Amino acid sequence: MTDAIECPHCLLHVLPTNGICPSCAKDVNDADLAIQSRHQRDLADLIETLKQKRATDTAVTEAAVQAGFTSDLSSQLLANRRKTVIAARFEIKKKYLWPGYPAFIFGTGVTVGTLTDALHGGEYIAVLYGMIFYGLCSILVGHMKLRSYPL
Ligand SMILES: [Zn+2]
Repeated sequence: MTDAIECPHCLLHVLPTNGICPSCAKDVNDADLAIQSRHQRDLADLIETLKQKRATDTAVTEAAVQAGFTSDLSSQLLANRRKTVIAARFEIKKKYLWPGYPAFIFGTGVTVGTLTDALHGGEYIAVLYGMIFYGLCSILVGHMKLRSYPL
């Protein structure tokens, strides 16, 4: 009985039949590709770990080269990662920060204005605690999420 191996093409753990992956029907003994794909994933993991620690691109590249990766490969993976991070940060800003800041500022403005007015005998229109609360939560959540995607 053959042991399950990781297919270098589809990266699944499979039991090959005559050296062919049952999942993607490609040759599992493609050694060069196996080394290359493992290499790329190791490097991608390393870059991910280092970026989570908020290391700069230069520091990440230096660490990658020190770990035995080519600088070409590491800069290519860094560039790919940057694209992903920029897209993720954009989505977070769109969802949390762009609605959060106006809601907080408007809610606070109206509330402070209304309370000041009321203190001076003016009309008591609205106190937008809900809007302030929503804005604050949205801003906090947005910034927390942004921390997971350091540039
Ligand atoms: Zn496969």
